[in-house]
Amino acid sequence: MEPVKRRIGIMGGTFDPIHHGHLVAASEVADRFALDEVVFVPTGKPWQKSGAPVSAAEDRYLMTVIATASNPRFQVSRVDVDRQGPTYTVDTLRDLRAHFGAEVDLFFITGADALDKILSWKDTAEMFALAHFIGVTRPGYELSDAHLPDDAVSLVEVPAMAISSTDCRARVAVGKPVWYLVPDGVVQYIAKRRLYEWE
Ligand code: ATP
Ligand code: MG
Repeated sequence: MEPVKRRIGIMGGTFDPIHHGHLVAASEVADRFALDEVVFVPTGKPWQKSGAPVSAAEDRYLMTVIATASNPRFQVSRVDVDRQGPTYTVDTLRDLRAHFGAEVDLFFITGADALDKILSWKDTAEMFALAHFIGVTRPGYELSDAHLPDDAVSLVEVPAMAISSTDCRARVAVGKPVWYLVPDGVVQYIAKRRLYEWE
C-alpha cells in the first residue's frame, strides 16, 4: 500500500509586515486542502519590488516567526532569506522539495494579484511540476483564471480581509495604530525596531 503523502502548504511573501490577511489565507487554505502544515517563506530580495525599499530580511523573518509561533501547523523557512540574489518562486520550490524529499505534496499559496503575474514568472512549467498552485481571493482583486492550467491551479475564496502590508506601513508612518491588523507581537516588534517610521 502506498503511504499517505504529507501535504505541505507554502506561503511566500515579503511579509513587510506579516498581517492577519496572510494568516487567514493560510489557515483557510490549510483547512480546505487538508494540509498538514503551512510553511511561511519570507523573501530575500523580492525581484518584483526591487524599486521600493524593503525592510531587512532578518526583521521580516522575525516578524513572521512571531506571528506564526502559536500555531503548531505553521512553520517558517529561511530558504529565501539565506539565498543570495533576488527571490524566484521556482528556486523556493526547488529548495523546499529538496528539504522535504519526494514523499510530500507541495501546495503553493498565492494571492490573486500574484497569480495574475504567474505566467511572467521564470520556469513556469517546472513550477507547476513541483507544486500545485492555490490562488486566494484578496479584496480589490478579481480572480482571473485565464491561461492557467486547470490541473495545476485551484482558486479559493478566503474570508475578505482588506489588509495590506502597504497600508500597515503607511499607518505606522503617520502614527496610526496597526493593532488587530497584525498580531500583537508584531505591533510590538515594529515599535521596538522603529520600522516604517520614516516611509
Ligand atoms: P504589499 O502591500 O507590500 O504588496 P502584501 O499585503 O501584498 O504587501 P505580500 O507579502 O506582498 O503582502 O503578500 C504575500 C502573499 O499574500 C501574496 O501572495 C499576496 O497576494 C497575499 N496576500 C496579501 N494580503 C492578503 C489578504 N489580505 N488576503 C489574501 N491574501 C493576501
Ligand atoms: Mg503584495
